[in-house]
Amino acid sequence: MDLTRYLSAIQQLKLGDFTLTLPEREEGDPLNEFDQELLGLANWLERRFDEFGKLQAITEDISRGNLLGDVLDRIFDSFHSLIPYDRIGCALIDEDTQKVTAQWAKTNYPERVKICHGYSANLAGSSLENILKSKQPRIINDLKEHLKKHPKSSSTRLILAEGVLSSLTCPLIVEGKPIGFIFFSSKQVNTYKDVHQTIFLSIARQISVLIEKGRLYQHICDLNDQLVDAMQQLKDQSCRDALTGIFHRGAVMEFLQQRLSAAKRQKHPVSVVMADLDHFKQINDTYGHPAGDKVLKTVANEIQQQLRGCDSIGRYGGEEFLIVLDDTDAKTAQFVAERLRQKIESIEVQIESGTIHATTSMGIATVDFSKTDKSEDALLNEADKALYNAKRSGRNRVILSIDI
Ligand code: GH3
Ligand code: MG
Ligand code: MG
Repeated sequence: MDLTRYLSAIQQLKLGDFTLTLPEREEGDPLNEFDQELLGLANWLERRFDEFGKLQAITEDISRGNLLGDVLDRIFDSFHSLIPYDRIGCALIDEDTQKVTAQWAKTNYPERVKICHGYSANLAGSSLENILKSKQPRIINDLKEHLKKHPKSSSTRLILAEGVLSSLTCPLIVEGKPIGFIFFSSKQVNTYKDVHQTIFLSIARQISVLIEKGRLYQHICDLNDQLVDAMQQLKDQSCRDALTGIFHRGAVMEFLQQRLSAAKRQKHPVSVVMADLDHFKQINDTYGHPAGDKVLKTVANEIQQQLRGCDSIGRYGGEEFLIVLDDTDAKTAQFVAERLRQKIESIEVQIESGTIHATTSMGIATVDFSKTDKSEDALLNEADKALYNAKRSGRNRVILSIDI
């Protein structure tokens, strides 16, 4: 009879039901001890089952993180039920330099984190190296005492300054290769027990792999960002005139086309200014070609600096610039061009043999799509004619196309 009940109790345990009810026995019954052992086993199994479920849920959640910071954030949010902490930090080993560098830290206290991103130390000869050798988490349950014994430990000094008093330092190892450490820290002394080491070790492999995955993903993202930057730089450079650094003719024409089609949709005005340096041949002839180059560069950069972000300037010809003023009517364009003309007139370009002054003539044309339509060619033609008139009527002046 008893045997049947024990058999069904064992089957119940196998199915994950740990609430055993055993028959009442007389005191002194030899089976009493057996029953107690069985109940103890059921209890132990229940706790392990629970823990296993929790760990599984946590690793599942952590594995949803992609970037290193995301994985670590998830560890910070989910580990409370397993290991006590007020702070978690993570440092990774650089394979080439063999330095350990802090990557991330999160706390539940307001004090400023002292060992923050970028804090770095040599692995060789450090106490962390011993942790890697033993492959076991290390508990320090009184960091003040620890500092007394290791007064040179600057990381202990820094972490104490945050108010941390005990720590559990866990090695991260992937396929036998150490990749770094995760630090659990508490503001209480004597926080960490052997059981916390055991818990960490039971999921150390998964955590290490997830952190490594986060690091690789982060690395890929960083590389991708660098690539995008480099491509952008390349694209920028391919739009630039080699001498002055401003847009070349093709790029400024493309810019103008974009502004014109946007302006057409939004029914707002666009103005163009054609600017040509006066008697530039004479400057070259008097001071030499390199001096002429310097004047071109200086004038181009000065105009560029004066413009708003939505405007642009390009080198349209040798000593001729095209300025595109977005959402700018004729009167405002005239005001802007006049200011630029004065600015250029005031520039002093220093060269070895003296100072060069340059002036510009400017022709402005405007299209206001709220009132009329105009092709790009027509607009440029008008600006060109206005520039020609500025030259003819004495140079160093601004002429608006409608005034002609
Ligand atoms: P105007 O006032 O009528 O515009 O007279 P100008 O002398 O400026 O005009 P012209 O067209 O006669 O001469 C332009 C000069 O610009 C001739 C050319 O050698 C010079 N030039 C063109 N590109 C460059 C350059 O990249 N560097 C230098 N230093 N000179 C250049
Ligand atoms: Mg000229
Ligand atoms: Mg010219």
